[in-house]
Amino acid sequence: MTAIKTVGVIGAGQMGNGIAHVSALAGYDVILSDVSEAALKAGMDSIERNMSRQVAREMINLDEMQVALKRIKPSTSVKAHEASDMIIEAATEKRDVKEQIFRSVCDVIQPHALLATNTSSISITKLASVTDRPERFIGLHFMNPVPLMKLVEVIRGLNTDQQTYETVIEYTKAIGKTTTNAEDYPAFIVNRILMPMINEAVYTLYEGVGSVHSIDTAMKLGANHPMGPLQLADFIGLDTCLSIMQVLHDGLADTKYRPCPLLVKFVEAGWLGKKTGKGFYDYSGDVPIPSR
Ligand code: NAD
Repeated sequence: MTAIKTVGVIGAGQMGNGIAHVSALAGYDVILSDVSEAALKAGMDSIERNMSRQVAREMINLDEMQVALKRIKPSTSVKAHEASDMIIEAATEKRDVKEQIFRSVCDVIQPHALLATNTSSISITKLASVTDRPERFIGLHFMNPVPLMKLVEVIRGLNTDQQTYETVIEYTKAIGKTTTNAEDYPAFIVNRILMPMINEAVYTLYEGVGSVHSIDTAMKLGANHPMGPLQLADFIGLDTCLSIMQVLHDGLADTKYRPCPLLVKFVEAGWLGKKTGKGFYDYSGDVPIPSR
């Protein structure tokens, strides 16, 4: 089994910085990279803020936080991953972006290094096929926010070997997560079920069946969901939600997966949810209010 000492994370957005956070706290050295200097800085700031919260709640102590922060090396170069034993890609949910990342990272990483993707929906087998090591390629689908959510969905591509699977299972145990196995079909398990519900909530808004407030209140109090579906969509990122619906629609060729035009419109406007300050809710004030 490959001994994992250094975990590389590509993409310092909400998921990538969470994966770096939990890996560093579990004792791994971490290389966190992003194409954007600003995103990298924001990612490192988020890690510090989120760890400080854990210190305030006495989940970790200040020493553990400081040691973990020192283990994370930020970089804007893919070349930094030459030291990684396993690279987890957590960049934007677009197939061409991910394929380009995997092609370029293969030029710099060591022969033994494993590759994983945090994609929410894209074929693991397809992404693996652009690399020089499809047998050492796997899907590791973390949940948001990574430090709090217990689950990691593990998806083997057609070529993934048993050793790779066992190595990543060891890693998920070391970071304190529970795994579930999913087959490599569009959006796997969690998003195959969750995303059509979110898309239906957007249709419910689009067709005027209920307001943002009514839809979220109905599902919170009527279905006992901790968060309404529109609030959850904002939290995930509307661009990510739309990409997942497009993968379901294209991959399963069933009209029940057609993305709601209102979701498309919000993404066109750059209203991507909490991460941009506006989605179904406007986050500029003290309390989020419906944006329209
Ligand atoms: P995000 O928009 O917060 O972050 C994406 C990051 O990728 C950005 O910082 C961007 O600069 C960076 N990036 C883009 N192109 C890059 C490149 N070529 N090289 C390096 N970095 C690049 O998105 P996110 O919510 O963190 O999602 C990232 C991945 O995780 C997606 O595949 C998404 O489907 C998946 N995911 C998201 C959630 C969620 O709830 N948001 C949950 C599970 C999985």
